[in-house]
Amino acid sequence: MARKHISKEAGCYKCRYDTETINHVLFQCPLARLVWALSPIPTPPDGVMVQSLYSNIYHVLNVQKEYPIEDIQAEIAPWLMWRLWKNRNELVFNGKEYEAECIIRKAREDAEEWKGRKVAEETAVKRLEVQQPTITNQANPWRPPPSNWVKCNSDGAWHNERDTSGLGWICRNETGEVLWAGARAVTKTGSAILAEAEALKWGAETLANFGYKNIIFETDSLQLAKMINGTEEVWPILHPTIELIRHHLLQIGTFEVRFYPRVGNKAADIIPKESITFVSSIPMLYSVVPMWLKYQVWSDKSVY
Ligand SMILES: [Zn+2]
Repeated sequence: MARKHISKEAGCYKCRYDTETINHVLFQCPLARLVWALSPIPTPPDGVMVQSLYSNIYHVLNVQKEYPIEDIQAEIAPWLMWRLWKNRNELVFNGKEYEAECIIRKAREDAEEWKGRKVAEETAVKRLEVQQPTITNQANPWRPPPSNWVKCNSDGAWHNERDTSGLGWICRNETGEVLWAGARAVTKTGSAILAEAEALKWGAETLANFGYKNIIFETDSLQLAKMINGTEEVWPILHPTIELIRHHLLQIGTFEVRFYPRVGNKAADIIPKESITFVSSIPMLYSVVPMWLKYQVWSDKSVY
């Protein structure tokens, strides 16, 4: 802003000694120097952070390569830069100042959180890879709907020893792209088939509200499909739920409710199994495929 004559002030907000460049804020400001000195990242061999931003960044991001034997917690380096930047903004916009120790502590917390998330995502992917090997040569793989139709696969997870049941559904278009998916944990339903019915009901309700006109519903409960289609008498326990399902179905232009064996319903099968582990009961609606579902969606797509 100073260069464009918008502001007269070009100096560092913190020390007022020098022009506020990126290199100054991240490496050369006395506060930044203190942060790096107190951090586990060793200073460069010449002892000072030089005038070049790139050589400084190169140094702090490559310390593990240069000091391979020592345990220097190199993963904290990007977070120290991030926190120095956040710290600068806190000072400029909110007038808050933090000590170097506090900046380092926050960077450590960031690094821990990042590591935790990466581990969680990796285990989620590994778990899927172990549980769900790529389906090939299966008799009933998932098939996309015809053009101008969408397909909604739903499933429920019910476990004797759990207090919650999981509901899930996934809606895909003719190219196998995920349009919407829903996952939620609910108070344990009276039986497994009720969980299946509740999952289908939620999917039908959501998609009807979104205005989809041609929908194929697939459930892996043969009995549920028969009851909804009226080819089998509705069990008293399922009466209220099936009434509601039919109500939502009537809002949709054209629909079909089909039984589909579990092997073709795998993506839907994973969702309630994952959602039964949700701590919160807030329904999750996804328009972007969540990490733990990616592998199966990809695997379904690779079959046809
Ligand atoms: Zn400064």
